[in-house]
This record gives sequence, structure tokens and C-alpha cells, in this order.
Amino acid sequence: MGNSQNEGKKFLDSVHQYFDHAAKFSRLDQGILAQIKACNSVYKVSFPVEVDGKIEVIEGIRVQHSHHKLPSKGGIRYSMQVDEDEVKALATLMTFKCAVVDVPFGGAKGGVKINPRTSSVKMLEKVTRRYAAELIKKNLIGPGIDVPAPDYGTGSREMAWIADTYQAFNYGEISALGCVTGKPVGQGGIRGRAEATGLGIYFGIREALLDTDLLKGLGIEGTTLEGKKIIVQGLGNVGYHAAFFCQKDGAIITGIAEREGGIYNENGIDIQEAFRHRSETGSILDFKDCKNIVNSTDMLEYECDILIPAALENQINEKNAASVKAKIIAEGANGPVTREADDILIKKKVVILPDLYLNAGGVTVSYFEWLKNLSHVRFGRMGKRAEEASYRRLVNAIESSTGKTMTASERAMLTQGSDEIGLVRSGLEDTMINAYHEIRDVMIDKKLPDLRTAAFLTAIEKIGVSYESLGIFP
Ligand code: NAD
Repeated sequence: MGNSQNEGKKFLDSVHQYFDHAAKFSRLDQGILAQIKACNSVYKVSFPVEVDGKIEVIEGIRVQHSHHKLPSKGGIRYSMQVDEDEVKALATLMTFKCAVVDVPFGGAKGGVKINPRTSSVKMLEKVTRRYAAELIKKNLIGPGIDVPAPDYGTGSREMAWIADTYQAFNYGEISALGCVTGKPVGQGGIRGRAEATGLGIYFGIREALLDTDLLKGLGIEGTTLEGKKIIVQGLGNVGYHAAFFCQKDGAIITGIAEREGGIYNENGIDIQEAFRHRSETGSILDFKDCKNIVNSTDMLEYECDILIPAALENQINEKNAASVKAKIIAEGANGPVTREADDILIKKKVVILPDLYLNAGGVTVSYFEWLKNLSHVRFGRMGKRAEEASYRRLVNAIESSTGKTMTASERAMLTQGSDEIGLVRSGLEDTMINAYHEIRDVMIDKKLPDLRTAAFLTAIEKIGVSYESLGIFP
């Protein structure tokens, strides 16, 4: 668990060691590599918040890891365990993640020491708005500067408060809504953002399953998700949506591990019903036909085809890695596997789909949202009906040349123009597929041992090209 400074340090060390390992295969100058690795700026702030006559001092932090492209981008985490090293590690990963999926941003991350589950909505709103105001004061937020997004413990509600606070301080700034992503659709958000990280994870797993060379010897049958047994840790935004899309494509969710315990049923758990059960009862436990698991961390060691850790960092570590029985680890969370565990798992021939690739769907769709905010138009608004008219002409031509008439549903399907959700999902799918093959090609070309090293190296080389062409100022 990311529950102490020590855990934060462990996380940052792991990220640095992954970087150093990949950097050994790079052609870049050592000075450039050192610059790519370093965190460019760290801002720590303490501010008072008064709720119901009681004043509390809240600590916040924003780390901008890289300014090689602007704005920088990364989520805001609300947790009592937030510490500087943890946020630095997350910001660092963001830089490489953006490069892997060709999103033209530097990496950043923010954190506020607050427990979102025990704080009132009033308190959360005050803290969020004040944290945003602190960033505004220091010019650390803005559509061209640094653009936060949701992360662990935050969601669209907090992003709407941030956007509103930014607009209040920057009255009349035409692209102000682009100061934050993950907003509700009614407040400049984009359709498809909430589920984007989970959907991206699904696309990544699907692509990897088609890669029979990579999975050779694992004993995985078939190249689709059909019948694959999956255990997911964390039924939050990322874990729920990843499991949902995998289940929709035929996978069997056998276990769900949450903070209060876990549930297991080897014949499968309906993920939507389990989610509803947790929302209604406040706990994942006692779900129908499932066995309760008291210590949910044990479930990381259960038999399954695919393990999706989607809660927090350092979950698979030197203590439990040797006992992991999953054939594939699909990193939904950031940093769920420590460097020591990574070594053990690679020796065991477990295939790891690394966080900096696999959970990049969120930032990809955040990028689409930012583009929407800058262009002030919903994707598909201009072209949808023109496309549909052109498809109708094509269908008419096919009908008259074949003499056959299509059914109403065939016609509707063939003449459907692109709307926002369709375009977002298509852009996300394309991004995840292209990035997979880019990393995989680097892994093969450079004879690298694993996908993580290949993903880091791919990112390092892209960022290096940026630095080389920018030169060193002054
Ligand atoms: P979230 O707050 O929506 O959900 C996290 C879930 O994990 C919660 O249900 C929580 O109860 C559970 N959890 C906490 N501790 C646990 C434990 N010890 N065992 C089991 N479950 C536990 O957060 P999220 O947005 O889904 O983020 C999860 C992870 O994914 C984080 O590492 C985050 O950095 C990463 N991530 C998030 C996004 C995004 O778009 N939200 C994008 C990329 C990566």
C-alpha cells in the first residue's frame, strides 16, 4: 500500500530504476538523459480551510516533471497517503506515458492530503477550489501551462470545481475550460472520458492476446478474451471499466479485491451487479454466490489468466511476486509492480503490460477533451450529417446496381455518421493499437527483455528528439 513516505520513495526508486534500465539501450547523450529523468519543478503548499467553524490546514503539491512539451498534464490524487516522492513518481510516469501514446504534453501530477471518503462534500469543494486558487496564484495551471485531470480519489465533480475557479480568476479567457480535463460533459467535458482508461486497458489486453509470439509458452488458449479468467484489484474508475469491457468481450471475472475485502467465484461475477451491490451496501463483501475473502491482497496470488491491479502502487512486490500465478499482469494502476517484483515476474515468464502504455487511455481522451475545449466545437458536429448523406448516396447506388433492397436496420447501420462518442472511441482504439505495435517493434528490434523496457525506451527516444531539436536555453 502507498501508505508511508517509505512507500512513496520505493515507488519513485522503481520508476527511476525502470528508466535507468531502458536508458542503457538509448543512443542519447548522458546529459540529455539526465534532463529527461529529472523532475523540472515541485510546488508544495499548505493552506487553511474552514468548515463549520473549524479550521484545518491542508497540504497540497503539484509536480511538473517535464516541460519539453506544454502544457504539462496529469491527474490530482486525494489521499491521506499522498507524499512528495509518490507524486514525483506519478508525474514522471506521465511524461513517458504521453510520449508512448503521442500525446503532445509534458508529465505532471498533483496531490492533496485529504480523505475523500470521510470528508463532507462541502469540505471537498472548499479544498478543491482553494487548491486550484493556489495553483492559479503561481501560474501553475492553465490550458497552455498545466492541465490537471482526475486520479485516485477525484472525479468529474472536482474537475468542474477547478474549471469554475479558474474561470472566475481568468474572466473572459476564451479557452479557460481547457485548464482541466475529465469535466462533466455539461461543463466542457467529452463523452467517453469517464471510461477511457478502462476501455484503453481492454484494447491493450485485446491486442496483446493476438500477439501469439509474445504469449508463447504461457498456456493461454485462443487469441481473444472469450473465457479468459480475470481477477481485478480496485473497483474504482479504472478497475470497474477495465473489467466491464473485458467481461463484455467474453472474459470471466472470477475475483474482485477491494480495500474492505474481496469476493471470488470461479464461474464468474457480474461486474455491473457487483458494482451496484458495493454502492448500495458500502462493501463488496456478501455478494451473491461469492466467497468472501478477508485479506483481499491474497487474491493477487490466485490462479487466473489475467490479473488487473487497478488500485494503487507497490501492490505486487518482493514479498508476493514469487507467488503470483497470473499469466498476464495488466497494469491498470500506476506502479502496481515494484522493480524487485518485476525481476521476479520476468524470470517466471509472466507477461506484464506496463502502466505507461496500458493505462494511457485516460490521458489520450483527456487530450481529445482539451482539443475540444480549444476548438469550441463538439467532435462530429460539423461533419456527421454530411457523412450520412454521402453514405446514403452510396447505399442507394449499391441498391440500384444490385437490384436488392437493404433492411431498415442494415441501412441505418451503414449510413451512420460519426458522433462524439464514436470518434473518441475510434481515436482511443487507434492510439492503443498503434502504441502497442510501436513498443512491440522496439522490443523486437532492440532485443529487449520485456514490454516495459521497450515502452520506456520508445518514450525516451521521442522525448530526446524533442530536446535535441529544442537545444539548451540560453
Ligand atoms: P478510484 O479512486 O476511482 O478507485 C480506486 C479503487 O481502489 C477504490 O475503489 C478503492 O477502494 C480501491 N482500493 C484502495 N486501496 C485498495 C487496496 N489496498 N486493495 C484493493 N482495493 C483498493 O481511482 P482510479 O482513478 O480508478 O485510479 C486507480 C489507479 O489507476 C491509480 O493508480 C491511478 O493513478 C491509476 N490511473 C487512473 C486513471 C484515471 O483516469 N482515473 C488513469 C491512469 C491511471
